[in-house]
Amino acid sequence: MSTKVVAPRKKRLSEGLTVTQKVFIRSRNGGATKIIREHYLRNDIPCLSKSCTKCQSIVVPDAKNELPKFILSEEPPKLSKIGKHYVVVDTNIVLLAIDLLENVSCFFDVIVPQIVLDEVRNRSYPVYTRLRTLCRDSDDTKRFIVFHNEFNEKTFIDRLPNETINDRNDRAIRKTCEWYAEHLKAYGINIILVTNDRLNREAVKKESESHGYFTKSLYEYADLLSNADEIKELIPNVDNYAESKELLPEDMSEIVFPEYYQTSRVMGGLRSGSLFQGNVQISEYNFLEGSVSLPRFSKPVLIVGQKNLNRAFNGDQVVVELLPETEWKAPSTLTLDSEHFDVNDNPDGQGEDDQFTNENSTTVISDKQRRLLAKEAINAQKSKKVQPTAKVVSITRRSWRQYVGQIAPSSVDGKTNGIQNVFVILMDKCLPKIRIRTRRAQELLGKRIVISVDSWPETYKYPLGHFVRDLGDVESTEAETEALLLEHDVEYRPFSKKVLECLPAEGHDWKAPAKLDDPEEISKDPLLPKRQDLRDKLICSIDPPGCVDIDDALHAKKLPNGNWEVGVHIADVTHFVKTGTALDGEGASRGTSVYLVDKRIDMLPMLLGTDLCSLKPYVDRFAFSVLWELNDNADIVNVNFTKSVIKSREAFSYEQAQLRIDDPNQKDELTLGMRALLALSIKLKQKRLDAGALNLASPEVKVHMDSETADPGEVEIKKLLATNSLVEEFMLLANISVARKIYDAFPQTAMLRRHAAPPSTNFEMLNEMLQKRKNMHISLESSKALADSLDRCVDPQDNYFNTLVRIMSTRCMMAAQYFYSGAYSYPDFKHYGLAVDIYTHFTSPIRRYCDVVAHRQLAGAIGYEPLSLEHRDKHKMDMICRNINRKHRNAQFAGRASIEYYVGQVMRNNESIETGYVIKVFNNGIVVLVPKFGVEGLIRIENLTDAAEDAVYDELEFKLSFKPKNSDKIREVHVFEKVDVQVRSVLDPVSSKRKAELLLV
Ligand SMILES: [Zn+2]
Repeated sequence: MSTKVVAPRKKRLSEGLTVTQKVFIRSRNGGATKIIREHYLRNDIPCLSKSCTKCQSIVVPDAKNELPKFILSEEPPKLSKIGKHYVVVDTNIVLLAIDLLENVSCFFDVIVPQIVLDEVRNRSYPVYTRLRTLCRDSDDTKRFIVFHNEFNEKTFIDRLPNETINDRNDRAIRKTCEWYAEHLKAYGINIILVTNDRLNREAVKKESESHGYFTKSLYEYADLLSNADEIKELIPNVDNYAESKELLPEDMSEIVFPEYYQTSRVMGGLRSGSLFQGNVQISEYNFLEGSVSLPRFSKPVLIVGQKNLNRAFNGDQVVVELLPETEWKAPSTLTLDSEHFDVNDNPDGQGEDDQFTNENSTTVISDKQRRLLAKEAINAQKSKKVQPTAKVVSITRRSWRQYVGQIAPSSVDGKTNGIQNVFVILMDKCLPKIRIRTRRAQELLGKRIVISVDSWPETYKYPLGHFVRDLGDVESTEAETEALLLEHDVEYRPFSKKVLECLPAEGHDWKAPAKLDDPEEISKDPLLPKRQDLRDKLICSIDPPGCVDIDDALHAKKLPNGNWEVGVHIADVTHFVKTGTALDGEGASRGTSVYLVDKRIDMLPMLLGTDLCSLKPYVDRFAFSVLWELNDNADIVNVNFTKSVIKSREAFSYEQAQLRIDDPNQKDELTLGMRALLALSIKLKQKRLDAGALNLASPEVKVHMDSETADPGEVEIKKLLATNSLVEEFMLLANISVARKIYDAFPQTAMLRRHAAPPSTNFEMLNEMLQKRKNMHISLESSKALADSLDRCVDPQDNYFNTLVRIMSTRCMMAAQYFYSGAYSYPDFKHYGLAVDIYTHFTSPIRRYCDVVAHRQLAGAIGYEPLSLEHRDKHKMDMICRNINRKHRNAQFAGRASIEYYVGQVMRNNESIETGYVIKVFNNGIVVLVPKFGVEGLIRIENLTDAAEDAVYDELEFKLSFKPKNSDKIREVHVFEKVDVQVRSVLDPVSSKRKAELLLV
C-alpha cells in the first residue's frame, strides 16, 4: 500500500479559523481511495507569557469553559550576555535529558512545541508521561508549557517537496522559535533553542541571525548557567561521546558490535519473512543469553552471546535474523551473572584484552568461563534439545529508563578528585554495567544511585550513561525502599495539587445522605434516587488484620422460599473518581496500589482509599452491590446489580471471623449470615475445582515487623483459614457475574481478564525432571487434567514435595492479563487457572484501576449513568490495558523484592541450618529453594568443591557429581533432592545487594 500526498491547499473558513487540506491517495490492489484530511489552523493560540499584553485578548475558553493559564514568567532567569530567556527544547533533548528537565535547579520557563510532544510520544511513552506531568503540574515552580505550533496559523508549515518528515519537523520547531522571538522582543525576553542536533544548529545559525533567537547544545546551555558545574555533571554521556568521537582511535575501541541494519532493509526483511520482530527477554540465570518469543515459533528463539545480543537490553523490542542451522543450540545449562562478569574491566577502556574480535559469538569471556562454555557446547551437541538461534540486527524500541545501581569500587581511581569514568553495577542483574563520568566517584561509593542510560555506540563494550541522583547509603531503609520503587517503576511521589483538588470539598466530613429522597441532596447528586438503600442489611467485611482500605463487604440472608440472598458490596469509587479528571488520570497511570512489607503506595489519595470509599464499619458508605439469589447448592437463581448505600456492622479479620463462626454460642443474625456464606463458599469452591480450577502455590511468606522499632522480626509462611476462602469465592463469583453483564452491554470494549492455557513446551523441562527422578507426569490436555495430575504428584516420604511441584508448575504458567473484549474472540477469553469462560476484576476499585473501569461499564450496563467514550473506544481501552498489565506486573515484582529484602535483614542475625530443595541443576552449580524463608539461591560449583574441573554434570539425569570440600567421597546432587543448607545473609561486595547465601552441609 502506498500513500501519496497531494499538495495541500489552504483556505480561510471564518474569522480565526483556516483549514489546510491534505489529500491522501491510497492504492490498494490497483484501485485507489481518496482520503481528505482537514487540518484546522487558528489565530487564537496564545504565547502563555505573563509579560505579553497581546495574547490576553485573543484567548477563548476551552471545552471545559476554562481559559488557558498564562504561566511563563515575566522575570525568567537571566544569563550573562543573553539576558532574560525562555527555553525551547527539541525532541532529542527531551528523550535524552528528561531528568535534567525535571531537575529543580535548572530549566525554568520552558516551551515545548506540540510537534515535540507528539514525537516524544511516538518514541518513548514513559518519557512522554513525565513530560506531560511537567507541563501539567509545574505551574509555580518550573513553568513548562505546550505550545500548539501545529494548529497556529503563524507557526504551521507545510512539508516541502523532497523534505523528510524529520527535516520538516525540525523546521517547524525553528519556526516556533522565530515566532516567539519576534512576539516577545518588545518585552526583552529572548528565546534559546536547546538542541544537540548539529545540523539543526547550523541551519539555525543561517536563519537565526536575522530572526533574533539563540541556539545552544545542551552542554553549551548548561555552561551558561550560574550553577554550571553542578548541572554539567548531570548531562547525559552521549554529549561527551559525540564530542570525543573523533578522538577515539580505531585501535582503542574495545569491541566492534555489528552495525544495525538500515531501516529499509529491516522493513523489507520483516515483510518478506526473513527477519522477525519481538521483545528480548534476558535469562535471569545468564545475562549473555536472551530469547525472543516469535508468533510462528513454538519455542522462543535463543540469542546467545554478547555479539548476537548486539547491545539489546532486557525488554527491548528488536528485529532478529536467524543463524544458520549449524549454530542452533540448546538453552544454556550454565549460569552467569553480569555483576561478577569481567569485574576488572577498566572503565577508561584501555588495556582490555579484546576478546570480541573472535568471530565465534560464544567465546566472549575469560579463560575459565570459556572452558565452561566449551563444556556447555559439547553438552548441547549431545542433547536433542537444539533450538534455533538468532542475532539482533536492529532495535526498534529501547526499554531504557532510569536505573538504580551502585558504583563498582574496583572501577574508581582513589587518587584523583577530578572527573573520571566509572562503572555502575545495576540492581537488575539482567542488565550490563553502565559507564558514567563523574567528579563525585569517591563520595558516591557505598551509595545507591540513580543513573540514566544514554547511548551504546558500537565501539563500546558497555553502554554510556550519566549520574542522576543519589538515594542514600546502601542498606538504609530509605534508600532501599526508594530504589525498589524506582526499579519497578512505581509512582510514589505525593499526589499533585491538581489531583487533590478533585476530592470532595467536605474532606473527612463527607457523609452519605441520611435519606435518598431528600430534595436538597438530590439537587447535589441527581443520580441519588437510583441508589438502593441497603442499610438494613447485616453486612460485614472480612480482611487481613489492620486493613484500612476496605474494598468489599458481604451479607447473606435466608429468603422465605428457602434460598439465600447473598450480597457482595464493593466500595463505590467511581462516585468520587470521575472520568477525565486529574484524579482519574493519576489512578489510570498508577494502575494499582503497591504493597511493600512496611509501606503501601496508594493508587488513590488516602482520603478516598482509607476513608470515604473504604467500607468501614458503623458508618454509611456508598457501594456498588451485586445481589444474588442462590439455592442451597450455591447455584445462581437470579442476579442483580445496583448502586447502593450500606452500613457495615463489623470489620473482622480473617481470624476473628473464623472464631465467631466456630463459636457455637454465637447465634445472632450476623453470625448466622456468615455461617451461611461459609457453607455456600465451600460449595462454590468444590464446583470450581470440579470444573478444573487450579490450586497452584507460590512460596509466600510474611515478614513480621517489630511495631516499636519497625525492624523486621521473624518470617512466617502465610496461613490460610477457611474465611480467606469464603471471601475469595464470593469475590470470584462477583467478578464472573459482572464480566458477563458488561460483556453483554459492551461486546467490543468490556474490560476483562484472561489467562491463557500454558503451551505444553513450558512444561517440557519440569515433566522431564519429574519423569526421570520421580516417575511422575503432569498432564496438559485441560486444566482439569492438569489439576488432577498435580494432585497425584505426591511423595509419601515428603509432605512438602507436592507444594514444591505446585510452585514449580506456577512458574510454567502464562501470566493472566487484562484485555478489552474486542481484542480476542470469545473462546480466548477463558481464564485457565480459574476454569471459567469469562472473568474480570470488579471487587477492588480502591487499589486496582481495572476495577474502576469495570464499575463504570457496569454503571453504563444497568442504566445508572451513560458510559464515557473513554471506555467505549477500542484504542483508548487498549492503552489502558497495556498500562495496567505493566503496572500490575511491576507491583508484584516490587512486593516480592520488598519481602526478599526484609527476609535478608531477618537472616542477618540468624545463621541457621534449614531444609532446602534442589530445583535446578546447572553445569556449574545448583539452585536450592528454602521454603521456610521463601528464598532460593544459587550454590556455585566453587562453593561445593575445591575441584570444580572434575565435577561431572549429567544433563539427562539432572545430576551434578563432585567431591565435596574436606571429603574424599563423591557426592551426587540431583533435582528435587531434599538437602540441608546453611543459610546466611551476605552483602555482595560487587553489587551491594544482600542475598541469601546457601551452603550445602
Ligand atoms: Zn503573547
